[in-house]
Amino acid sequence: MTTPSAPVLIPTLNAEESQFLDRVRAFVAEHVAPYTREWENDTFAADIWTKLGAAGMLDVTVPKAMGGSERSCMAYVEMCRELAKGDPALSMNVAAINALCIAHLVHFATDAQREKYLADAMAGRLKLAWGLTEPDAGSDARRVQTKAEPTPGNDGYFTINGHKKFITNGGPADLIILIARTSEKELSAFLVETDQPGFELVGRIPTVGVKASWTSEFKLNNAQGWHTPCTFEQAISLLYRGRLGIAAMAVGIAEKAAELAAEYSVKREQFNRRLADMQSVQNMLADNELDVEAARLLLHKGAAMYDRGENVTTIASMAKLFASEASNRVTNNAIQIHGGRGMTFEFLVEKLWRDAKLTEIGEGCSEIQRMVIAKQRLRALES
Ligand SMILES: Cc1cc2nc3c(=O)[nH]c(=O)nc-3n(C[C@H](O)[C@H](O)[C@H](O)COP(=O)(O)OP(=O)(O)OC[C@H]3O[C@@H](n4cnc5c(N)ncnc54)[C@H](O)[C@@H]3O)c2cc1C
Repeated sequence: MTTPSAPVLIPTLNAEESQFLDRVRAFVAEHVAPYTREWENDTFAADIWTKLGAAGMLDVTVPKAMGGSERSCMAYVEMCRELAKGDPALSMNVAAINALCIAHLVHFATDAQREKYLADAMAGRLKLAWGLTEPDAGSDARRVQTKAEPTPGNDGYFTINGHKKFITNGGPADLIILIARTSEKELSAFLVETDQPGFELVGRIPTVGVKASWTSEFKLNNAQGWHTPCTFEQAISLLYRGRLGIAAMAVGIAEKAAELAAEYSVKREQFNRRLADMQSVQNMLADNELDVEAARLLLHKGAAMYDRGENVTTIASMAKLFASEASNRVTNNAIQIHGGRGMTFEFLVEKLWRDAKLTEIGEGCSEIQRMVIAKQRLRALES
């Protein structure tokens, strides 16, 4: 099935996963939300990765047989949603690390590769990044020019030359899952350790939103990459669950902004009445609630379909597209309700507004999501 016609399933996490979510909320309250402003000036606390690992937030996509907690997609998206309410940049990182990096090790790495990296990755001792985008290959991912050629005398290793741009966590990362070209038509994925002479960090790219997440640019000059035997399509297929993670990030941002806007509207008075008593403001509050509810429903439907083993190509794009545009509308309304104060650094809504923008761009911009949805619909019509 390619169209999202399955009935909506309201999430029912089992008792153990509900307790996990309680722990995530407690973690966010203690280790994330209080630091969101501070991290923006530089990056996350150095020990955040091992803390996330100890709290079981880096092994959710790993089967129990490999030492992970093998959680449902519903638990994964709920974790990303809760993290986003505390710090959207951290949510984006955790979403990508679980769905793109660690899931890559699970699905495509050899036993020897998993033996070397997986335990440290799940514990947060090994910092990870996922590198697809290049200066000339963004939405058109197949344009990747970074080249990988087998290294003579070193079985399984390839010599990699190229240039990557906009890679989250690429500065602090110890290991990068890197997409490179193996022939004119073929692309595949490689494990590249960053502490080798062939890895040249060009630098950090300053961004307006998700600033703490260390967006990077780097070059590969005869770098050695350990080949994970997979096709480009296989590696990229991880983006479907990944997009649900970004949708969850967008929903978390929207929920937080809607909550802050409603709270502010009952405190501020103008014309001898509360903002909340003005119908124009109520309209914005209503639109916010509607956007949050609709985005969350699409997100949960996507997660439920994933957990039932159904095709999520369309629903993942729908959830990401709607949730990201909704979070941009809601954060914009939240600033409007705060008036001039909304544009100052005194209130969090300006940060949420800046962070929300990434959700319309990362892991496929909105135009690409529309393209995917239309393509799947037309394919179903023509088949
Ligand atoms: C903060 C941040 C973190 C990121 N992290 C990572 C990461 O960890 N790893 C990684 O590999 N990449 C990462 N990226 C890159 C991100 O995935 C790309 O920016 C995104 O895929 C868009 O590519 P582009 O920027 O080259 O834009 P382009 O592909 O140049 O597109 C520019 C615009 O053109 C339009 N457009 C493009 N193609 C089409 C089309 N077919 N139809 C209609 N309109 C179209 C869209 O409006 C699009 O926004 C990150 C980006 C940012 C900003």
